[in-house]
Amino acid sequence: MKVAVYNTKPYDKEYLEKAAAGTNHELVFLESPLKERSVKLAEGCDAVCVFVNDNLNDKIIESLHCIGVKLIALRCAGFNNVDIVAAYQKNIKVLRVPAYSPHAVAEHAIALILTLNRKTHKAYNRVREGNFSLDRLIGFDLNGKTVGVIGTGKIGAVFAQLIKGFGCNILAYDKFENKELAGIGQYVPMDTLFNQSDIISLHCPLTPDTHNLVNAESIAKMKKGVMIINTSRGKLIDTESAINGLKTGQIGYLGIDVYEQEESIFFKDLSESIIADDKIMRLMTFPNVLITAHQAFFTDNAMVQIANTTLQNITDFETGNIKHSNEVTPEMVK
Ligand code: NAD
Repeated sequence: MKVAVYNTKPYDKEYLEKAAAGTNHELVFLESPLKERSVKLAEGCDAVCVFVNDNLNDKIIESLHCIGVKLIALRCAGFNNVDIVAAYQKNIKVLRVPAYSPHAVAEHAIALILTLNRKTHKAYNRVREGNFSLDRLIGFDLNGKTVGVIGTGKIGAVFAQLIKGFGCNILAYDKFENKELAGIGQYVPMDTLFNQSDIISLHCPLTPDTHNLVNAESIAKMKKGVMIINTSRGKLIDTESAINGLKTGQIGYLGIDVYEQEESIFFKDLSESIIADDKIMRLMTFPNVLITAHQAFFTDNAMVQIANTTLQNITDFETGNIKHSNEVTPEMVK
């Protein structure tokens, strides 16, 4: 099959080319994101392969349908960026990589916690400049702290196991309980989790229910000085409310790998550009905020898995053997 691969970075090309070796698929690598004006680049292709920040709204789906695209191959797990109902109505299949390495993301959440707490990023810079002082590098023991995990699916469950290893007490909230959490944590109502957690880590998908889950009201319910970690989707947090919470000290630490307006910023080198997004610039001024640019998934293991599953999805679509678990259907967005 001929596949237009949008938003290609050099590392995507490297892993996808390896996975495509020996198949009959022709991958057309495009640096451009999938936008209305770049749809025509997929002319002659049966499928498009896209990533988290390609926004496939109903208009783009309609345009893809008009040029004969029959498959959207997501090289990610989340599908909040695709209008699934519109795709279904146009008979375009949407396949994803439901699991690649929950460990990659869970371990990154741990990295954010450890860095914010023990300030190793600051210590690294200080020592390189010959500053061996410990002033303002004070942290706290994780042992004995209460950690709230919101969303206990594949990533949340691994995260809970890992942070349990530090001697933390785990409180969990999910719409559905995961048996893997038995003996590790205790499911509680969301408000109890907000009230009692020293650290809150978000591992639920972005849905209408979870949009701005962290907002002025929920922040007010949290412990003063709470640490909030978000490796899921930017829009789980209302950034304006987070900024206010940081200003008053209600939020003591914020670690984010995702940001609500990340599409125009992340995955690009903007070091010589004027960044127009005032909210992220304000966030970057806080000494207790740590931002990474959606890299939680980015391990060799995960990239191999993503590339292999994406190519397998394309083959399965071609041969009519689609794996039910990899297909995204309208029922999943109800
Ligand atoms: P998953 O489907 O295995 O688990 C998600 C869990 O969230 C499920 O248990 C589900 O019941 C729960 N959930 C759904 N709605 C909820 C709600 N309203 N309140 C509480 N819980 C709710 O997904 P996963 O593989 O663990 O991934 C979780 C999220 O991580 C993805 O949706 C994606 O947004 C994000 N992610 C980020 C990266 C990254 O690089 N930063 C990489 C992969 C995934």
